[in-house]
Amino acid sequence: MDKCSFCGRTKKEVNILIAGLEGHICDHCIEQAYSIMNEELGSKKSISFDSINLLKPAEIKHFLDQYVIGQDQAKKIISVAVYNHYKRLMQKPDPEDIDIEKSNIILVGETGTGKTLLARTVARMLHVPFTIVDATVLTEAGYVGEDIESLLTRLLQNADYDVKAAEKGIVFIDEIDKIARKGDNPSITRDVSGEGVQQGLLKLLEGSVVNVPPQGGRKHPEQKMIPVDTKNILFICGGAFEGIDRKIAHRLNTQVVGYGASKKRERIDKENLLQYIAPQDLRSYGMIPEIVGRLPVLTHLNPLDRKALRDILTEPKNALVKQYIKLFKMDNIDLTFGEGVLDFIVDKAVEFKLGARGLRSICEAIMLDAMYDAPSNDTKELTITTDYAVSKLDRIDMKVLKAS
Ligand code: ADP
Repeated sequence: MDKCSFCGRTKKEVNILIAGLEGHICDHCIEQAYSIMNEELGSKKSISFDSINLLKPAEIKHFLDQYVIGQDQAKKIISVAVYNHYKRLMQKPDPEDIDIEKSNIILVGETGTGKTLLARTVARMLHVPFTIVDATVLTEAGYVGEDIESLLTRLLQNADYDVKAAEKGIVFIDEIDKIARKGDNPSITRDVSGEGVQQGLLKLLEGSVVNVPPQGGRKHPEQKMIPVDTKNILFICGGAFEGIDRKIAHRLNTQVVGYGASKKRERIDKENLLQYIAPQDLRSYGMIPEIVGRLPVLTHLNPLDRKALRDILTEPKNALVKQYIKLFKMDNIDLTFGEGVLDFIVDKAVEFKLGARGLRSICEAIMLDAMYDAPSNDTKELTITTDYAVSKLDRIDMKVLKAS
């Protein structure tokens, strides 16, 4: 009697039995074989580091230049850190036991200066799973808010639950300064929310296997945890660290004593103290030493000046102005920006201290009516003049933009 050569079921016990040269296979076994095949191929499909086109630091920076204006020092430091990170992942077992350590990065700079953009652009270049998480939602387990492990839920989701890919991804932790311990003296002001979360984070940063809730949060207590090894995940942290300039100034002042002191002091650029940031400043701000140690690549972002803001409007590959031109082009409308209108937009962003993020809301406010009306008219060409921009902005409350 014909039966499946794999499971032994007879023809009567199965739906389909396919005959081969020397045997048979039933529908059950075909299905099972198919899922085994998918699983195997799936894991091979994950990013292999030989297949990552590892760009040299100068090439990485060049890529970043296409999207991020200015911030040369940060770009340079990130380029080297990313290059080393992926070299580390490619390292073969070394007889001399020289282990290249992980180069997690911390970016310090005012909000809206390009921290997230830098991290996002790095991930875009590497084609690895990437996620942005906000440190403010973190609390220690048992408190309201998210557990530390949930940081990785989004990464898993972005990697389509391909654990191997997620394990080589990049996590951007925003507002890391919000989990700083409040107050300088740990023995007096032991701040659980800050320090406890930092301790928890430490585990992720240094690399360990953590159980990640695939759906996040505690709303799904029945979910099966997925173990994720964070050893090769690159963490990039960002924070404004408001007021850290005072700590830097304090350190610089106490350091600059003795011979040659006055000369040194002269050279300090008081307008932008962030450029002198050092790990001990993060510690005096309230980051625990272990965390600071696990974020060995420290760099700063400069405040954006008028020229930078003006360039942001037109220069990046997906600059705002280019985006609007493309949007109108899709309706066969040639959009141009008249002389001076971009400077006017920058003026407004500076005047209302909206920074780079404000550029978009200002542009949206100016362009709204045109985007609403033009597609229904027979317009073929449209020029946004300064007068037009002024009239659109006159009607809105700039404070609203600030909040957006
Ligand atoms: P941060 O993370 O520092 O608060 P973001 O990177 O989110 O700031 O920047 C907000 C927006 O402002 C970005 O989406 C981008 O459009 C623009 N932007 C900020 N800085 C730059 C920059 N240096 N180059 C180009 N665009 C920038």
